[in-house]
Order: sequence, then C-alpha cells, then structure tokens
Amino acid sequence: MFRAPRGTHDVLPADFAVQRYVGETAARVAGLAGYEPIATPVIEDADLFVRGVGDGTDIVEKEMYLFDDRGGDRLALRPESTAAVCRTYLEHGLANEPQPVKLYYEQPNFRYERPQAGRYRQHTQFGIEAIGVLDPALDAEVVELGWRIAEELGLRELTLLLNSIGDAEDRSAYVPLLQEHFRPHLASLCEDCRNRFERAPMRLLDCKKGSCRPFQEGAPHIAASLRAESAAFYAALKEVLTRLAIPFREEPTLVRGLDYYTHTVFELVPAREGSQVTLLAGGRYDGLIEAIGGPATPGIGFGMGIERMALNLKEQDLAPEAADKPDVFIVNLGDEAASTAARIAADLRRVGLGATMAYGGRSLKAQLRQANRMKARFAVIVGERELAEGVAEIRDLGRSEQRSVALTDVVTELQQAAAYTQE
Ligand code: ATP
Ligand code: MG
Repeated sequence: MFRAPRGTHDVLPADFAVQRYVGETAARVAGLAGYEPIATPVIEDADLFVRGVGDGTDIVEKEMYLFDDRGGDRLALRPESTAAVCRTYLEHGLANEPQPVKLYYEQPNFRYERPQAGRYRQHTQFGIEAIGVLDPALDAEVVELGWRIAEELGLRELTLLLNSIGDAEDRSAYVPLLQEHFRPHLASLCEDCRNRFERAPMRLLDCKKGSCRPFQEGAPHIAASLRAESAAFYAALKEVLTRLAIPFREEPTLVRGLDYYTHTVFELVPAREGSQVTLLAGGRYDGLIEAIGGPATPGIGFGMGIERMALNLKEQDLAPEAADKPDVFIVNLGDEAASTAARIAADLRRVGLGATMAYGGRSLKAQLRQANRMKARFAVIVGERELAEGVAEIRDLGRSEQRSVALTDVVTELQQAAAYTQE
C-alpha cells in the first residue's frame, strides 16, 4: 500500500472547502487594496534561496528539497515565495511599473521539517508583497491586510506581535551587545544556537527549545540600538496602526527566521500558547533584491499558512460547510429511464442547477437513500410507469412533497421551485 509521503497530506473535499474559503477570503481582501495575483514555478534555481533567504537559515541549512535535474541544473523545490516573487520582479522589469508593485499569491512551499500538527513538509501559503517603496504607511497597509483577513474570517482572540529589527547598520551596533549577553551561556545552548552565535546571532532570540528559552530572558532589546531614523520609521508605523485601530503588541525580541528581514517584523498568533501556532508572519526585506543580484529595492510582505488558518477556523467552529450540494438528484429505474435521466441532468446543468443521477441500476430505495445522503433539495423520479405516461415525479426532499410533472416541463418546474425555496 502506498501512502502520502511523510509530512504531506491529501486534501479531501471537506477540508478543501475550508482551505478554499481561507484563500478566497484573503484574495478578496488583498484585491480590494489593489494587490494582483501572481504564481511562480514550484522549482527554482537553488541559489536563489541560498542567496535570498540566507545560508545561515533553517530553510537553507536543513529544510530545502534539493536535486540536480537531468541537465545538471541544481534546483530546489520552492521553500518560500518571497525570494521567488522578487526574482519575478527583476526578471520582468516590474521596477518600470508604478511603485509599489503589489502582488499576492497562494502556492505550496516545501520544507523538510519534522512533521507535527500544523507543521508539514508541503504547506500552502497565501502571501502578499509590496515592492519598490520604503514608507511606513505601506508597512501599515500590509500589517492591516493581515489583520483584516483574520477578522474577515471571523477568527477571534488573535494577537498581533510587532517589532523593528532595524537595518544592517543598527544591527552592527546591537549584535555585539547581544553576543555579550549569550557568550557566558554558550556551553548550555543547543547546537543550532552555538552555530548561529557568529553567523546569525539574532536567531538566538528565536530558538524554540525549552533549554535555550531561559537564556533569552534579559537579553538586550534592539530598540535601544536603533538609529534615530530607524526609530522614527518604526514610530511612524505604530502611529498609523493606532489610527487604524489595529491592536498590536510590541514584542521587543521578535525576530524572523529568514536573513532578509529589516525594520518591521510582525506575526499574528492565537491567544493560546505554543510554538506551532503562528498563523501569519512577515516583515520588511529591503536587502533581499540586492542579495539576489538586483539594485537595492525595498519591499514588505507576509506569508500566511493556509492549513494553520483552516485548523484554527475548525477549532473555533467557524469553518464553512463542505462543497456545494446538488440541487437535484435524479432517481431512474430501467435503461430507458437512465438515458432520459441523463438528458434531464444535462438540461438542468445548462440552466445552472446542480444535478446528479443514480448509476448502476440500483433499487428505488437505495437511490432515494443516496439522494438524502447527498442532501439534494429535490429528487426527480423517472420509472417505467412515468415514462409510459410522459411524466416524472418531483419530490421536495426537505418537505416530503411530491407531484407529477410532464417530462417536457421538468426543467422549468425545477427552476421555479429552486428559486422559490432559495428565498
Ligand atoms: P515557524 O517559526 O512556525 O517555522 P516560519 O518562520 O518558518 O514559521 P514563515 O516562513 O514566515 O514561517 O511562514 C509563514 C507562515 O506559513 C507561518 O506563520 C505558518 O502559518 C506557515 N508555515 C510555515 N511553515 C509551515 C509548515 N511547515 N507547515 C505548515 N505551515 C507552515
Ligand atoms: Mg520554519
């Protein structure tokens, strides 16, 4: 027996409906703010992520699916979309369009992670990117859209965590202070943290291991090391968010796991504690486009885990009902009735009514049971007697009413009945 590879999962219709609802809601919210859809390939040059995301990150160090294709090119399954969207921005000269270029996407990422609830090796992210402008009002827009999506979905009790991690210059002042704080504890930190001490010291604040957590307490905050202009940028963002009545909580140790972030970083987390719960995370990435070979270009965005959002909706009983139910189920008895049923079904679909029929020549009782299980609104019954009389029975399954209708009138009758019961 084959099974889906470890850390991956099939999306069956009931879950598909919830995930689609999340993605469509997000796309609608982003679209209202002028963001346009984009998709990038599942495979990319592996170097795009090594240079863009950074070779000291979990994604590049441990999580990328790497392979050489038959032509000898070194490819990666896309682990995240921001670097890919920035590549698109460069490749298609989007810098020549009015700035910022505002895009959204919904596509899968692949990361070789340890599978747990809400953490998969293939997950789907909805994300937005606003590229080409450095303006705190744009940061506020991106944060606001993340908040709006959650609000629109009806999710309650979320916390928006916000921080500024400055730029390279701010960090060159901050990092020595941070290293001074962790240096005496190096021997007690996990291997990852010891490795990151020199290469990506800010990541030490982000380690989720219980044994490292105590040493994070009392670490110096970057806020004290921000230059006046960086602090002013952050203050301006907070001012706009306050005006928009978006309740944020400043989290002075919030950093992100990707090297490219600068200034604004934020996460949306449910009130419930835990490490796998971040629903949406993002920030400003002013160094990214330069790192992948373009001119220095600012950008900001976020990524939202579709599966984690769907899980939260289900936990809070906010998930929509599964896929559309058929309006009409056609019960048919005998070969001739079956072909009449097929024609009625096709005619109903042509006028926009959902119609399915029974197959396999099963008994009347079995067919009616199926109609009920599918929660169809109407059953049309075509048997030998009905055919002989040129009629069909239409049964309203909700009300258990039934009447005979001429075969030629079945479609119009059902159109009227469906419009009537819809009200
Ligand atoms: P984490 O700290 O949870 O590993 P991350 O910093 O790697 O997250 P991002 O790359 O910023 O996360 O991804 C943004 C969002 O995508 C996350 O907040 C989460 O909702 C979702 N996500 C990330 N990795 C996974 C995964 N392996 N499985 C499911 N969802 C994920
Ligand atoms: Mg991760």
